[in-house]
Amino acid sequence: MSTDNQIQLPIYVDTPSIKKDSMAGDGPFKATVEIQNNLGFPGEKVENWQQVAIDKMAETKSKYKSVQVFLDSCMKCGACTDKCHYFLGTSDPKNMPVARQDLFRSVYRRHFTFAGKYFPKLVGAKDLDEEMLDDWYNYFHQCSQCRRCAVFCPSGIDTAEISMAAREVMNVIGVGQKYTNQILGKVKKIGNNLGMPEPALKDTLMDLEEEIKDDTGVDVKLPIDIKGSEVLMVSPSADFFAEPHIDGLIGYAKVFHESGVSWTLSSYASEAANFGMFIGNYEIMREGALRIRKAAIDLNVKRIIIGECGHAWRVAYSFWNTLSGIGSGAQDKYALQLQNQLDSNYPQPQHMIEFTYDLIKNNKLSFDKSKNNHRVVTFHDSCNVARGSNMGDIKDGQFILPREVIKAACNNFIDMPKNTIKSSTFCCGGGGGLLTDDLIDLRIKGAKPRMHALKKTEEESGVNTLAAICAICKSQFSKVLPNYDFDPYMVVSVHQLVSDAIVLKDTKDQKD
Ligand code: SF4
Ligand code: SF4
Repeated sequence: MSTDNQIQLPIYVDTPSIKKDSMAGDGPFKATVEIQNNLGFPGEKVENWQQVAIDKMAETKSKYKSVQVFLDSCMKCGACTDKCHYFLGTSDPKNMPVARQDLFRSVYRRHFTFAGKYFPKLVGAKDLDEEMLDDWYNYFHQCSQCRRCAVFCPSGIDTAEISMAAREVMNVIGVGQKYTNQILGKVKKIGNNLGMPEPALKDTLMDLEEEIKDDTGVDVKLPIDIKGSEVLMVSPSADFFAEPHIDGLIGYAKVFHESGVSWTLSSYASEAANFGMFIGNYEIMREGALRIRKAAIDLNVKRIIIGECGHAWRVAYSFWNTLSGIGSGAQDKYALQLQNQLDSNYPQPQHMIEFTYDLIKNNKLSFDKSKNNHRVVTFHDSCNVARGSNMGDIKDGQFILPREVIKAACNNFIDMPKNTIKSSTFCCGGGGGLLTDDLIDLRIKGAKPRMHALKKTEEESGVNTLAAICAICKSQFSKVLPNYDFDPYMVVSVHQLVSDAIVLKDTKDQKD
């Protein structure tokens, strides 16, 4: 089945020999004037861009102390150099995490340290000139903000935060990325990444209800905008649109049906994803979170549950409290109103995996696991879930719960090699705002370490199904798997596995 275009995987992903400037270039497509202006950024590079950038760096370092600590504390120990999937896949030394950081750090030193101001050459301090800006744009868009390097850094330096800070500086001088900023504009205007208007969304849900009825004979509902429901479910809009995501949405619906808990989607907050995090912009990230808060208040729900989306879960789990007061944190009028409204007997927010897991644990769901017997399943830990959140209020719950849900629905489960899963998981290669076709070469190369681990598991254990709980990972895998001689349809949502094996009570009753 191999073709000339396919990448031959070695037995082990060795640290590659360096190929200097192998990924040099212009970076992804830049945002147009209109796209930039929609988000309140300058449409084009401002005249005094260097000064504006330095002022923004000063603001960032005083606002986010972590960034300053990261910039000051690198010991150049080299532990991170071979930990980034983009370096392993491209061999470009500027994709070593420490080198990526140094693009930002050298400018920081030049302007914010004594030695850098007076003896720049001695301490590797550099000006932010056109050449440096080009490198920033190119290489900070070759970082998926996956945080794998931070796991191996003895000082805990998180390159993802530096990458976010660099993208934020570039946006305020008028140099933004088309893909992320265009999507953020759609969420602002319509409410979801796909720009899918309310009537289209409602039609899709009705079609899905009919499909489930045809398939199972059971009236499983996908309710939308139902006031007074117990649960507001916020899922990534990819779940409404295409396979394999949509099969996960069907799975959520079947689980809710079996639970007897009333639930609703919202046409106003029809997007769990929050690309504001990718561009390091707090205000834009907050706007996304506030849409969900407004929907929760308007619909008067008691619980908020998030669907299968990696970075959305990180934003919800780690940042919603201060962004919007969901959980605790913010103290404004609406935050307090929502805190009073939500049921404190449940985690707020909660992940769909937690909801399903709790039902499984309490014997509230039945499965016919043989329905998945044609599958040998492995699980990809998505970076933002693995290294940016938890689930289920137990240590390592974000690793345990998804695997337990899969095992409840499938007889054959096998993990990929230990150094490529859980907190050491490799990025899919398309996270952090890089899931765009103008970066396809980078995406294919960056997927190499994950593909290698998958190949090994396929060869040793016959794995034929790759399950994930992130819309970006699923889309990225569907696209790049053929480049590594895999079937693109081997990617599934975890809730698709649930959907295929769950026994609906009404079906059972009908048979009885
Ligand atoms: S955060 Fe991930 S993509 Fe970025 S440098 Fe670190 S390992 Fe590479
Ligand atoms: S592992 Fe940490 S301290 Fe060592 S070179 Fe990398 S960023 Fe610097």
